[in-house]
Amino acid sequence: MTEDHRPREPVTLKPDRKKSAGDVVLIVDESIAGAYLDINSETGVYSGLANPATEAPIHNFGLAAAITNCSVGANLLLRYGGTRDNYRNTIRSKPAIWTFAKAAQFETIYIDAQRTGGAYQNLMDDTERAWIDQWDQFDNVAVLRRDHAVAEQLAEYLNDGRQQFILVNKVGAHFPVSDKFPKSHARYYPMLKRKNLDVTEAPADELDGRQSNWVLYRNSYRNTLLWNVGGFFDRLFAKAHIGEATVIYTSDHGQTFHERGEYGEATHCTPNPQIEEGVVPLVLIGGPKLQQARWSKAAQRNHDKLSNYRVFPTLLYAMGYSKADIEREYGFDLFSAEPDPFTFNVNFNARLGSNPIWKHIPLEKIAHPPSSDILK
Ligand SMILES: [Zn+2]
Repeated sequence: MTEDHRPREPVTLKPDRKKSAGDVVLIVDESIAGAYLDINSETGVYSGLANPATEAPIHNFGLAAAITNCSVGANLLLRYGGTRDNYRNTIRSKPAIWTFAKAAQFETIYIDAQRTGGAYQNLMDDTERAWIDQWDQFDNVAVLRRDHAVAEQLAEYLNDGRQQFILVNKVGAHFPVSDKFPKSHARYYPMLKRKNLDVTEAPADELDGRQSNWVLYRNSYRNTLLWNVGGFFDRLFAKAHIGEATVIYTSDHGQTFHERGEYGEATHCTPNPQIEEGVVPLVLIGGPKLQQARWSKAAQRNHDKLSNYRVFPTLLYAMGYSKADIEREYGFDLFSAEPDPFTFNVNFNARLGSNPIWKHIPLEKIAHPPSSDILK
């Protein structure tokens, strides 16, 4: 009752550069702990991104701070943009990323592996839906195979010669992780007992909070990454011609697996989170040829230093909007040398007079995957 319910504002910015001919893609993975991938840790799991089977350049921004440690807020901000100071206004009254894409003459495509039957996820609504030209869900594909179906579908769009903005919502590695990989990818042992579950998320891993249980969980999680991240990118790169497309890969939030030995049953979305809940991977794949030198420099300079608050401005820039216009409303992009506070929001739904709470992530304290988990 205290909130503003006016209709959303239209796009008032105008693209002012000649944009590159490629697609613009945002792949939002689910529950991927940044430090558990081989691009960010020596003990990390194969991601398909370290020595990729593609000619497309890979610019790794290393570990990044998530928007917040819960799916809904993180995804919402990735779709509506906003800075740490103004996000409460942008998510309420500013246009969605699709609207900007349409205004820049992109076809808009949503590939959602998490829901079926047209169901909305992460606070999407009819108004937002109306801006999406092509809506892909996988009603008849088992959860186990959905991320691979995404790779095939995305490759088709990348290869079709039409200019599109594509947002991908992956299955990724949300709990339960006992059955999110096929037998062929059960490479890390000992792991959780298989249960033949076919669900994207459910409180079904029977975590008992003890370290003996976390060892099993972490190994099932590793196997899941091997299939839903490594296997995903292998399949995508085998089928897709990335060309001039700009593809950003990240996760909504990170995960804590209680690597410091602390008791507990939660992995993310807790009111008093461990720093790892806010640590995600951040990678740029491809990009226009003319921008390659800038991308390399930016990824080097900003390695382990940025946050997902930089993603939305980067997408707008790739669509041809001007840097000055973008910065005024949405802040700095991934190219920018401006320092980022490296914090995530642990009170995203700040309402009724409460304020966001920013948790800083000391880089040297981030837990990396313990190799003592793994039976050789
Ligand atoms: Zn999530």
